[in-house]
Amino acid sequence: MVKVKVDADTCIGCGLCISTLPDVFQFGDDGKSVVIADADEAQADEVIASCPVAAISKE
Ligand code: SF4
Repeated sequence: MVKVKVDADTCIGCGLCISTLPDVFQFGDDGKSVVIADADEAQADEVIASCPVAAISKE
């Protein structure tokens, strides 16, 4: 497992990471993605690559 983080200034709230990995990401009060748990490393790499604004990274 790996810790991931979302840059809230960059996230556009598209919801892709949340629908892909709902156990890891959730919408925050600001409509942007927040991390709620560690991610499987392979799944983290995939979601990092698919975020349209590259707001997700590993800690
Ligand atoms: S995929 Fe990227 S832009 Fe979309 S909600 Fe997740 S972190 Fe934000």
